[in-house]
Amino acid sequence: MAKIAILDRRCTGCGLCAENCPFGAIDMQGGRPELNAACKVCGLCVKACPEKAVLKLETRVDSVDKSKWNDILVLAEVSGGRLHPVSLELIGKARELAKAVDYKVKALLIGHGILDFAEELRHYGAQEIAVYDDPELSYFRADAWAACAEDYIRFARPSVVLVGATSLGRSLAPRLSTRFHTGLTADCTRLELRENTDLVQIRPAFGGNIMAQIITTNTRPQFATVRYKVMNAPARREEAAGEVLIRRIPRGVADSPASCVSVTPVPPRKSISDAEVLVVGGRGLRKEADLDMIRELAALLGGDWATTRPLVEKGWNTNDRQIGLSGRTVRPRLIITCGVSGAIQFTACMKGSDHIVAINSDPNAPIFDVAHIAVVGDLYDIVPALIRRIREGRA
Ligand SMILES: Cc1cc2nc3c(=O)[nH]c(=O)nc-3n(C[C@H](O)[C@H](O)[C@H](O)COP(=O)(O)OP(=O)(O)OC[C@H]3O[C@@H](n4cnc5c(N)ncnc54)[C@H](O)[C@@H]3O)c2cc1C
Repeated sequence: MAKIAILDRRCTGCGLCAENCPFGAIDMQGGRPELNAACKVCGLCVKACPEKAVLKLETRVDSVDKSKWNDILVLAEVSGGRLHPVSLELIGKARELAKAVDYKVKALLIGHGILDFAEELRHYGAQEIAVYDDPELSYFRADAWAACAEDYIRFARPSVVLVGATSLGRSLAPRLSTRFHTGLTADCTRLELRENTDLVQIRPAFGGNIMAQIITTNTRPQFATVRYKVMNAPARREEAAGEVLIRRIPRGVADSPASCVSVTPVPPRKSISDAEVLVVGGRGLRKEADLDMIRELAALLGGDWATTRPLVEKGWNTNDRQIGLSGRTVRPRLIITCGVSGAIQFTACMKGSDHIVAINSDPNAPIFDVAHIAVVGDLYDIVPALIRRIREGRA
């Protein structure tokens, strides 16, 4: 960490520091330089000052003793009366990571009436499942959940905490990382664990133009969220292993100022993330009505339909049917893209699909780099022909 300091006794008020600051981070007030929040500590003001009145100060950051933080914890989630599948995917990933450094995989469950789910987790390779089960935890309240998770993390001292990037996880993870004054990387698409136990958290950054590798070097635990369908779910084992550890809810949870006034259940909605077959329309479609053939092909294949972001921006579709960094991640058995160019923000969230068929009139379209079958041609010829052939085949 570094910061800029100005020595009043040396400063002559010449203003050269302010003139040379590319961020407009120095205001001259009453002939004296004052730093504002725009300062990026670039150090150009230090070089510009003829009186050496501007200094760049480095502060030493003490590193935590990493050997005191071990194992990988997955914050498992029960929502709508079921174990969210992202929890299983994270346990699978945690098992893979744990092998390299001989860590245990642990899971944490918070809620009420959730002991059956703890039992279920024993079939997926979690070696310890901590449970906070209490009527006070019947409904999600961020402060109560965070208090329980903090209590267990202080007790178990995990090196890594993996959280599903669900609404609940996205609310909880930042609260926890703040409580532990440590790093959190959201929406990781890949995770690796170094021998020194630093978690390499890989995710698209700067609009998807680079894949950033983010490391929490000096603090523990290391928090990362991962979206549903990004990692593979492990198979359920017949035999159950791992211990269930019942924890008492920390004091204060019952006194939370937040309370649940009423609950309106949302009817279960099918998500494109759960589809086995997906047909996707892109900007190659000329008008909204042409989405009908995308929907028709999807229905004939027993699947669902989705689009790229530009079609959502045009108002032809809603965001819950958009694939991509600012939409959903999907991993169907078959995906057919029609008139989709294959921008990184789109492909990053579908390239794990088992079979990718891409239809595009441009033979150099980047979508062909991830496609298993490339169909170069006009979607207005190919999609109706496919529909016809499937219908004829059935007849
Ligand atoms: C921060 C950020 C987040 C983003 N998030 C997302 C996201 O979540 N999802 C997303 O999709 N995008 C996202 N984008 C936008 C992304 O960069 C692309 O602009 C977008 O994916 C392009 O959509 P497209 O492929 O439908 O359109 P285009 O890139 O315009 O491609 C249309 C394709 O159709 C082909 N075509 C045209 N006519 C025909 C025809 N008759 N037959 C066959 N092919 C034809 C063309 O050759 C072309 O390749 C994001 C961008 C940013 C900066």
